Amino acid sequence: MISMKSLGEIDPEIESLITRDLARQNSHIHLIASENFASPAVMAASSSIFTNKYAEGYPNKRYYEGCQIVDEMETLAIERAKSLFGAAHANVQPHSGSQANMGVYLSLMEPGDTILGMRLDQGGHLTHGSPVNFSGQYYNIVAYGLHPETERIDMDQVRTLALEHRPKVVLAGYSAYSRHLDYEAFRAIADEIGAVLLVDAAHFIGLVAGGSVPNPVPYADIVTATTHKALRGPRGGMILSSEEYAKVIDKAIFPGGQGGPIENQVAAKAVAFREASRPEFSTYTDQIVANARAMAEHMVEAGVRIISGGTDNHLFLMDLRSIDEDLSGRDAAKMLDQIGVTLNFNSIPDDPRKPFITSGLRIGTPAMTTQGMTEAEASETARLIVAALRKHNDESALESVGGEIAALASRFQPYPSEFAGHLS
Ligand SMILES: *Cc1c(COP(=O)(O)O)cnc(C)c1O
Repeated sequence: MISMKSLGEIDPEIESLITRDLARQNSHIHLIASENFASPAVMAASSSIFTNKYAEGYPNKRYYEGCQIVDEMETLAIERAKSLFGAAHANVQPHSGSQANMGVYLSLMEPGDTILGMRLDQGGHLTHGSPVNFSGQYYNIVAYGLHPETERIDMDQVRTLALEHRPKVVLAGYSAYSRHLDYEAFRAIADEIGAVLLVDAAHFIGLVAGGSVPNPVPYADIVTATTHKALRGPRGGMILSSEEYAKVIDKAIFPGGQGGPIENQVAAKAVAFREASRPEFSTYTDQIVANARAMAEHMVEAGVRIISGGTDNHLFLMDLRSIDEDLSGRDAAKMLDQIGVTLNFNSIPDDPRKPFITSGLRIGTPAMTTQGMTEAEASETARLIVAALRKHNDESALESVGGEIAALASRFQPYPSEFAGHLS
């Protein structure tokens, strides 16, 4: 028999670490562009008894018995994803965004085939062809970047590279780029060379769900995504596609790249899709974009250089050299975390510093918007960040800014105390 004792009785060490991280999450302003706060409903499904079920295969085509209920549940998740994004096919089994990309690559390419994606140091993702990632090791990577003046994706370069290298897959998508993607132009380029157009919407699929940025589904053959970033669901991935690619994608995820699906996460994805289909979710994602714009505008007015001059989405990059030539991204991020603002350092275009040091900070607003902040607090947060960065050598000034940050954060806790017991 399993023990019915509580987590605290069985494992006080882990319980105490959860409680401590809850305190951290509840006392900072959170600006990591890929993070968010899942609802108690999402977490309830994620920690449910579906964790116990092996269900290799797909609904009504399983390799294990006892899947009747799991089939109903996964079908619900699939149907919700299809209807939320207007897709003909959805695979909700990828364990993460990287696994989703791996599944698509396995379904479309042989080792050595060419993929055209965005340079990692200009806003792309590891899985778009970094030499330290499977994508860079198994495939021939050709990469496009930003136009040096506009700091927007150089679509002329994308087309020139496409015509020259004839990639099998043209990939649009980013982890650190603040402008809309030109799906029409990407589609035209893919059609011109007979390539598959893949959009990696891992970062912004939540904004798509809320209708706050254009939906790539009508343009792309395949869209990969995560469910835990702006979408505010459980940690995981998914793939949306036209009917044409449904079979090869399903085969590439299972048995091609994964074993049993994590059905408790699939259940939590279904809950997140339901939450994201409500009108309030559009209000939320519009607020994410408004908050990012308010922060970027405040910084530009304060004389800080923002890559491309602003943002259309949930994130932007600061060029720290416009504040202090000697301040690296790594040092700035560490200092800000110590005074209560959590974000990450990030390379900026043509960064003179190495990727583990950098000259930039990435700022994202999905999490702070879930905390309940609107434009007024976003501008105030931008002011506090710039004040701290300008005085990064002045202990007493930092202490005073830290006090203001703590006061602000305490009014916008993601998990107010009435949830605290439930969450640990
Ligand atoms: C976050 C991200 C991924 C990977 O997601 P994981 O769940 O961390 O594996 C893939 N592509 C892009 C563009 C991302 O931003």
